[in-house]
Amino acid sequence: MNWKLAARAEKMNPSVLREILKVTERPGIISLAGGLPSPKTFPISAFAEACAQVLSTQGEAALQYSASEGFAPLCQAVADMLPWKVDPAQVLITTGSQQGLDLVAKVLLDPGSRVLVETPTYLGALQAFAPMEPVPVGVASDAQGVLAEDLLAKAPGARFAYLLPNFQNPTGRTMSEARRAAVSAAAKSAGLPIVEDNPYGELWFDEAPPLPLTARNPEGCIYLGSFSKVLAPGLRLGFLVAPKAIFPKLLQAKQAADLHSPIFNQRMVFEVMKDGFLDRHVPTIRALYKRQRDAMVAALQREMKGLDVEFNTPAGGMFLWLRMPAGIDTVALLPKAVERGVAFVPGAPFYAGESDSRTLRLSFVTASVEEIEKAIAALAATVREQLAHQLAAKTEQLLASAATP
Ligand code: PMP
Repeated sequence: MNWKLAARAEKMNPSVLREILKVTERPGIISLAGGLPSPKTFPISAFAEACAQVLSTQGEAALQYSASEGFAPLCQAVADMLPWKVDPAQVLITTGSQQGLDLVAKVLLDPGSRVLVETPTYLGALQAFAPMEPVPVGVASDAQGVLAEDLLAKAPGARFAYLLPNFQNPTGRTMSEARRAAVSAAAKSAGLPIVEDNPYGELWFDEAPPLPLTARNPEGCIYLGSFSKVLAPGLRLGFLVAPKAIFPKLLQAKQAADLHSPIFNQRMVFEVMKDGFLDRHVPTIRALYKRQRDAMVAALQREMKGLDVEFNTPAGGMFLWLRMPAGIDTVALLPKAVERGVAFVPGAPFYAGESDSRTLRLSFVTASVEEIEKAIAALAATVREQLAHQLAAKTEQLLASAATP
């Protein structure tokens, strides 16, 4: 058989990450690599009740085809939940926010289109954009995300900027109020649309993050949200909010992609949410994840002492970002760490342009506190061993060159 691949299929990358992470699937490895929410947070009994309720009272509608826009009461609930005035007719229920990324890419990107991304950015977005064959351009970023000046400089001709202001994946960083104001003003002045991805915004630990970028300029932004981190990712439900100028195109792309997101799941989620359940449930997730973050930060402070390792203390979300001492490449470090029983994600695949090979991402939500402590000790031991090897190699080199006449 002659399988001739489409050019776009050639562009799909074989998930560098999946290949790298294969080594982490061995039994006995503590994985700080995955991006999985803690299953302890899944409200299983609330779903059992909602499932029975939906089947007994709306069984036929729940098992029938339905509207591409989504279940109208759920669209209304989403509009009510957001901190700016949203018309429910601008809410599209998606099959995870990952589908939102795919729809946005289909509607806004041509081959060769420039799309501005953070440095580093969410790998899954780069993968969702890739089949449209755009040119992702990394915008200079610091501990708060993109620099407004560089965004402005790179804006001409770009189709949109993909930004993650809250507890970013992979770094865990958050944009301050001042940065949001500057970024929003820069984008507005350049006529640059923003695609704002906010799956982690509700998972704050001490205080809610500043208002989303979309709230500052709803006509210039597409906002992506998700039920994955506040309820459960297996539902595959997310949503987008888009200006009226672009909504119909996104809806057409949605129809072509999958007609609609599972209506049974949408009705269950609405049933679970309708009496203010999230207001009671989400604080329990915040409390759990905060304890886990504290445990990881304390373990890093203890175990990495004396090593030139930099790391942040995220104010929410699921991830923490590390930068290793000079000379350590985290792709090469991973198999050594796995030998000692710990896995992480190397930072390199998260960069659109030149990558920083010293970086890595850790998740603090899936492993237990005891496992986190054990894993960080193992990671520190791996780093120490690597540094010792480097020193030995350097000494040998120096001795060899000194011995040469
Ligand atoms: N955006 C970001 C930044 C993410 O981290 C994820 C999940 N890893 C998604 C989107 C997709 O989430 P979902 O499709 O489950 O809503």
